[in-house]
Amino acid sequence: MASSTLNDTLRTLPQVEELLRDGRLAQLAATHPRALLVDAAREAIDAARQGLLSGTASSADRDAIAADAEARALAASVPSLRRVINATGVVIHTNLGRSPLAKRAAQAAVSVAEGYSTLEYDVDAMARGSRHAHCEKLLCLLTGAEAAMAVNNNAAAVLLVLTEFAKGRQAVVSRGELVEIGGSFRIPDIMELSGAEMVEVGTTNKTRARDYRRAIGSGTAMLLKVHPSNFRIEGFTESASVKELRLIADEENRRRDEAALAGGATTSNVNPAERVLVYEDQGSGSLVRLDPFANSDEPTASESLRSGCDLVSFSGDKLLGGPQAGIIVGAKPLIDRLKANPLARALRLDKMTLAALEETLRIYVEGGAALQGIPAIAMISATREELAPRAEQLRDAIQAAVDPEDARVETVEETSRVGGGALPLCELPTLAVKVSFLKGRALDCERHLASKRMMPIICRLKDDALLFDVRTLIGEGDLEEIADAVADFFDEALR
Ligand SMILES: *Cc1c(COP(=O)(O)O)cnc(C)c1O
Repeated sequence: MASSTLNDTLRTLPQVEELLRDGRLAQLAATHPRALLVDAAREAIDAARQGLLSGTASSADRDAIAADAEARALAASVPSLRRVINATGVVIHTNLGRSPLAKRAAQAAVSVAEGYSTLEYDVDAMARGSRHAHCEKLLCLLTGAEAAMAVNNNAAAVLLVLTEFAKGRQAVVSRGELVEIGGSFRIPDIMELSGAEMVEVGTTNKTRARDYRRAIGSGTAMLLKVHPSNFRIEGFTESASVKELRLIADEENRRRDEAALAGGATTSNVNPAERVLVYEDQGSGSLVRLDPFANSDEPTASESLRSGCDLVSFSGDKLLGGPQAGIIVGAKPLIDRLKANPLARALRLDKMTLAALEETLRIYVEGGAALQGIPAIAMISATREELAPRAEQLRDAIQAAVDPEDARVETVEETSRVGGGALPLCELPTLAVKVSFLKGRALDCERHLASKRMMPIICRLKDDALLFDVRTLIGEGDLEEIADAVADFFDEALR
């Protein structure tokens, strides 16, 4: 197109105000904020302009632009962050918000959110209190630790511990544990950020106690142990235990004490900051043994402390089943130093999260049957007897809503995963409802369920069929919503 005619065509694009007066957008004006409509109109006009400039369109179709603006306005009115139905069977699904909260925990968060709270107020002293107070006692009770604190997430916990204790000094870590978690958290990067000097020992598959012993020296601040998360090397592997690291750290500390005493110090004034610490980043961590429910040999935080860790940190929203948080437990003088680090202020938790975390921890303190109130635990421990009626109900609901000529619907044996980097090798036998397509394609239905619903449904695509794992279908109305959405795909998207 010659440039003069292109300019003429560009001039035929509607103005924002004209589009707003158009029937479609004028109708939305009663129920939608004007700013949102203006933005949608501007975006639609810009998209049309780009089409003309790139040559994919040769004239401005006013009606199409109005329809585009309307669609954009409607899409922008739907909350971006909203509930989804998780039919993947991955219990701690990082993309889907990890652990759902226990009802009681969610209520606790709402309660402090809606009003003022004791966040930093001590009602007995009638004076300023500490936000650390709410969870510390409970965490100590649950882990046997002397002291505890919680920060924004476990990545923050690792950064805080490394910054406080290893900045400008050495932290020794196995090459088998230099993992990347979830694409943005890499142990070497966090170490660099903290200013700690990383001393790698061993090999990817084998690291022995003597590798640490050889690496330790007067510049060593800590022996760091990192849970390998969802990374596993199987077969010819070896790693040093926390007990072994403790012995090696103790040998070095004794050596430093002796050197200090020889230099005229008394033991009592050897600076505790000069000691080699044993710190474990447990990743998912857990407050209770999960072996009764799942094939797990993961140590709990209290086991790692008893094995000799000075500090242990783990996530609040992985196996713990609480809100996003990073929990640090261990020796009181060390936790006191962490609390005083300016980073602790930058990484602190807000009142809603603290309330949810406190309530989650209270459920753990109650223990026993109360633990089933934590959705992550209930889902991981769900038995075949609990899953079978749910699977049959979902199968029947989809069958009732869908024409038998469109799809075949059946229950099948499948495998759920814990997710969140926790228990990567653990397979949970489960039941799923399988929808095989006699008309249309599974992939198109999968897309319809995810993108065309107010409550998106995320399922699994396998062998050109859709699988709905009932283990993670715990929301009220989830089953009906899925049946409705599948029927909707055949009724609307396909016809
Ligand atoms: C998940 C994980 C982290 C990060 O925890 P967040 O709570 O997601 O910040 C750190 N280390 C390990 C080993 C992990 O598995």
